[in-house]
Amino acid sequence: MFLSGKRALVTGSTSGIGLAIARSLHAGGAEIVLNGFGDESEIAALTQELSASHSAADLTDADAIEGMMKDAGGIDILVNNAGMQHVAPVDEFPPAQWDRIIALNLTAAFHTVRHVVPGMKEKGWGRIINTASAHSLVASPFKSAYNASKHGIAGFTKTIALELAQTGVTANCISPGYVWTPLIEGQIPDTMKARGLSREEVINDVLLAKQPTKKFVQPEEIGALAVFLCREEAGNVTGANWSVDGGWTAE
Ligand code: NAD
Repeated sequence: MFLSGKRALVTGSTSGIGLAIARSLHAGGAEIVLNGFGDESEIAALTQELSASHSAADLTDADAIEGMMKDAGGIDILVNNAGMQHVAPVDEFPPAQWDRIIALNLTAAFHTVRHVVPGMKEKGWGRIINTASAHSLVASPFKSAYNASKHGIAGFTKTIALELAQTGVTANCISPGYVWTPLIEGQIPDTMKARGLSREEVINDVLLAKQPTKKFVQPEEIGALAVFLCREEAGNVTGANWSVDGGWTAE
């Protein structure tokens, strides 16, 4: 298996896209470090399924990230995926939610990256994959913090790709459109409220309206792309922002 001997940390991997990425990397032979919140027994089942370790670090807290990175040991593949959303008009957007979203979706990646880069440089090999979003390229109303954080992570990724270009370490974003996960399900009630729509109208007229394929992206499709980015053949793929959005940002 081509990832045997590689150690991968996937943040926010107890659910949704991160879990699918962790499963795909595990299937490729990588040793997995999981991170994220959730029910204790469900997490225990995941660590068993993937022969993984797990960190419950809250990535909005820089000290907790520091502890997680120390415990994780040498990381060859870093996937910054943990993220959250809040939907509200900008003049009603709770400042505490703004701070939390920027901390988790953007600043956490700065901290994990600064911890892994010296080890990756020393080995002359590394893969940094950041789950951005279609919202790293285009915006939607009522998602000011999320859009700012995702545009930010796209710029951060390009910067580190350039800094690391001659080290054997690549850095790329994956930018999904709408993927059916708890994060999407959770924003439906607030979107109903912000836009005065029913649940069906939010799904069909707001979410799928963006995606010419009229289909939600599957988490496994994101996992497959993450595996590709870890291949030797992807060594010259760096600083890219990979859309997996059913054609959304082509329009
Ligand atoms: P999800 O809610 O299913 O999973 C989020 C994961 O992050 C969970 O494991 C959760 O425990 C973890 N997490 C949340 N807060 C955390 C914190 N403070 N510290 C550590 N871990 C924390 O979400 P998802 O849809 O799988 O989203 C994963 C990533 O994909 C996010 O960055 C999100 O912005 C991005 N994304 C999702 C979609 C989508 O349609 N679902 C589209 C584009 C981008």
